[in-house]
Amino acid sequence: MYCRICNQTTNKIFNHIVLNKYNVDYFFCESCKFIQTEAPYWLTEAYQNPIALIDTGIVKRNLLFVKRTATLLYFLFDKKKTFLDFGGGYGIFVRMMRDIGFDFYWKDKFAENIVSKGFEFSSNIEEVELLTSLECFEHFINPLEEISNMLNLSGSILFSTQIFHDNPPKPEEWWYYNFEAGQHISIYSDITLKQIAKKFNLFIYSDDRGFHLLSKKKLNNPIFIMLIKFSQIGLFSIVKLLMKSKTESDMINLKTSPSPQSNK
Ligand SMILES: [Zn+2]
Repeated sequence: MYCRICNQTTNKIFNHIVLNKYNVDYFFCESCKFIQTEAPYWLTEAYQNPIALIDTGIVKRNLLFVKRTATLLYFLFDKKKTFLDFGGGYGIFVRMMRDIGFDFYWKDKFAENIVSKGFEFSSNIEEVELLTSLECFEHFINPLEEISNMLNLSGSILFSTQIFHDNPPKPEEWWYYNFEAGQHISIYSDITLKQIAKKFNLFIYSDDRGFHLLSKKKLNNPIFIMLIKFSQIGLFSIVKLLMKSKTESDMINLKTSPSPQSNK
């Protein structure tokens, strides 16, 4: 089996029961240190499986991502510009970012926008300062194709996915394989992210755990990490005070136009 990132030959590292019934092979690429499953024939079922719906971390995760993203955008990007949450799910993140004051829009091929209605991304929006893709990369069948599609919309992708270092973690030692739900089919290491950045001629910044930025912009990785850390110990509260919330203006705009972005 060829690597879906660098096209080199991969080695089978283990097999494991996925969705409590399918015996699935996992492959490792020595060249870019990427783990992929065999062709994921079980995905339709994986996305219907009730286990995938038992996501008790959804609010906690969104809160954490909002704090980090808002702080990074405030200090490293043009906060007045337009942003897009790619794979925006129910729209929780978009609503929360708009509540702080960032002009965020929603896009998702699979999920229904429940809480950010009226802020769907449209082709009227010409320039996207940065795109977020939270807990999506591990779901990609063809990561390079997905990243390429994202880069057509913006030169910066802020994303979350847990990474490993050195050798692939043993199946029983890492929760992130998430065998029961069967949706994590592409797993990255720090080396994989570096190779992806190189392929697309981008810079990569990372906290070396789960939060990363691919960008055309030259930044400083220690500052990226410091902002993430400080966002959790008070810096986010300052950002929130300095921004102007869109909660009220969005309501007024939605009353007069169901699609506020078309009036931009
Ligand atoms: Zn590879």
